[in-house]
Amino acid sequence: MKVVKFGGSSLANASQIKKVCDIILSDKDRRLVVVSAPGKRSKEDTKVTDLLIALGQKYLKDGKADDELNAVIDRYDEIVKELGLSSDVSEVVVNDLKSRLKGDVSNKEKFMDSIKAAGEDNNAKVVAAYLKSKGIDAEYVNPKDAGLLLSDEYGNARVLPESYDNLKKLRDRKELLIFPGFFGYSKSGDVVTFPRGGSDITGSILAAAVQAEIYENFTDVDSVYAANPNIIDNPKPIPAFTYREMRELSYSGFSVLQEETLEPVYRMGIPVCIKNTNNPSAPGTLIAPTRELNNGPVVGIASDTGFCSIFVSKYMMNREIGFGRKILSILEDENLSYEHMPSGIDNMSIVLRQKQLDEDKEKRIIKRIKEELKADDVTVERNRALVMIVGEGMMRSVGILSRASTALARANVNVEMINQGSSEVSMMFGIKEEDNVTAVKALYNEFFGC
Ligand code: ASP
Repeated sequence: MKVVKFGGSSLANASQIKKVCDIILSDKDRRLVVVSAPGKRSKEDTKVTDLLIALGQKYLKDGKADDELNAVIDRYDEIVKELGLSSDVSEVVVNDLKSRLKGDVSNKEKFMDSIKAAGEDNNAKVVAAYLKSKGIDAEYVNPKDAGLLLSDEYGNARVLPESYDNLKKLRDRKELLIFPGFFGYSKSGDVVTFPRGGSDITGSILAAAVQAEIYENFTDVDSVYAANPNIIDNPKPIPAFTYREMRELSYSGFSVLQEETLEPVYRMGIPVCIKNTNNPSAPGTLIAPTRELNNGPVVGIASDTGFCSIFVSKYMMNREIGFGRKILSILEDENLSYEHMPSGIDNMSIVLRQKQLDEDKEKRIIKRIKEELKADDVTVERNRALVMIVGEGMMRSVGILSRASTALARANVNVEMINQGSSEVSMMFGIKEEDNVTAVKALYNEFFGC
């Protein structure tokens, strides 16, 4: 059994939905289908989820939002008509939206989640109705009936463990199942949504629950690329990479899948294939527990800006028991998560996303580290970029660091920090933000250039 998920651009209008249905029907193992809400039809267009957010917000503010409601209804109406479905289907959508708007507004987040979820819920009903109209034994699945239980963190839900046993039963259903992505239900029966882009998570949970042979994720690109296409023209496609490589590459340029998406399938060892709805015969990119190491030591280059580093030094730091723990507990008290922590004998740098650290927090942390740990020097450097080169093959190759640092030196990029993850799957270079593009280009040319 294959679980297959289609993103918003794959379902943006009737002709896209027809393509999706052809893809589903071309493989009889594609039996459990997760759909997003209709996405953008063109660059300037608005996603249905964004229309719904505007609708919910206006309604909360003014107690009515006719224009916003009509904008959503129009999107579905157009789709229903162009698919040749009866007006009953549109009526189902209209009634659903109206009844959501009549919901309890005392908890705004709860209300907004119910409105946001309407995008995928109604789209799943439309897709199922279209397949039925073609004589296919297809059925819309309500996530509540299927037992997709989530924590009651509105807009940021996590799956509850008992969901897996509930959802496993979908394996036994004989129909082609159309499941709305992005939301589930809390134990008290309220709609709760995942973070934006969360239909990918629904697909991953379902694939894990039914122990799918593969989780196919259809989007609008042919594959994942070896570097950010906004920095490198026509970067090379990556035919396959491992879960570990995917995690290391999660800095920008690899935003094909929502961050938390892989966790459920990763735990079950289920491979994921990213494919293009508009070019389904292209092989796509496979993400699996292991892969053949036949395409060079480096599989991809990722980078991101907006980091800062807290530099701490103290003479004889290496002999002091508990130093690292004490620093980390200060970070914990301040609710800060860190990305990397390269260290020397008497110093360490803690690299974190700088948006977590406002000026007050920065001052407080410097003071605490100086006072509580008697550090000699504590400084914070902002506006740093991290560039990662990633590949399982690096473990077996000699000279990768030398090639990378030579390439950076030739491009006149000053490397402030280097960290090779203990798994040897990645190498991180900490540089100034203004050098980011130059650094990615230099590394790309070194490892992927002709
Ligand atoms: N429709 C939701 C969003 O736009 C979820 C998704 O498409 O995955 O964020």
